[in-house]
Amino acid sequence: MARVAIVTGGTRGIGEAISLALQEMGMTVAANYGGNDEKARAFTERTGIAAYRWDVGDYDACQEGCAKVAAELGPVDVVVNNAGVTRDGTILKMSKDMWEDVIRINLGGCFNMAKAVFPGMRERKWGRIVNIGSINGQAGQYGQVNYAAAKSGIHGFTKALALEGARAGVTVNAIAPGYIDTDMVAAVPPEVLEKIVAKIPVGRLGQASEIARGVAFLCSEEGGFVTGSTLSINGGQHMY
Ligand code: NDP
Repeated sequence: MARVAIVTGGTRGIGEAISLALQEMGMTVAANYGGNDEKARAFTERTGIAAYRWDVGDYDACQEGCAKVAAELGPVDVVVNNAGVTRDGTILKMSKDMWEDVIRINLGGCFNMAKAVFPGMRERKWGRIVNIGSINGQAGQYGQVNYAAAKSGIHGFTKALALEGARAGVTVNAIAPGYIDTDMVAAVPPEVLEKIVAKIPVGRLGQASEIARGVAFLCSEEGGFVTGSTLSINGGQHMY
């Protein structure tokens, strides 16, 4: 039977590329999204992949969403925690809401999803969880204390959960993308982006498909000996 995978934020940007890569591997994919119905509908028409709307920052919604996917597609073998948001600003301008939103969605989403799927994966002795971190969680970034804290938290979460899954055939890994050409990066002011690209050794932004290939490997049968790892896919930026 085909493996069943949930990709959060799987209808556009990096998530869309991940959904397609897992589909290409023969998995049955459910793409979660947060609220953009129009993009989700267009995505399903284009790809044939079912889209499911729920807020990953809402614990109960994650339990219900994952149960619905399992009832419709089968037990969930793979989860890619990709959904993420930015609410940038220096700490002087960052409100409590901006802080809480980013922690709740980006980091809380990983916990909420793992709570829903980890017990079943352990029971069936096979599972793959991949969490999308960020180079800004490794290195920090001006104006992003919320985002850097959430992404850095993801890297710790990944290692701790990997230890809990290791003997049960459940691997847990993270990918730390550098700057990838998506809507999220399109929101960065051009003069700021120019300075960022100048610091990327390969001299360009990454493509969503380049992150998706890494995720596909970590979710494969052959990826079973890799756990608790963070794969940096950032054009060499982590060396600075
Ligand atoms: P996009 O902004 O292009 O897409 C974000 C996706 O997440 C959308 O599908 C969106 O759904 C979904 N989403 C947002 N909030 C929620 C929520 N509360 N519940 C469920 N789904 C939600 O992002 P990217 O593709 O650029 O980024 C994907 C991941 O990669 C993020 O975690 C990001 O932090 C990380 N990353 C991105 C980098 C980049 O350069 N782009 C660099 C490093 C890390 P909807 O369409 O409904 O809004």
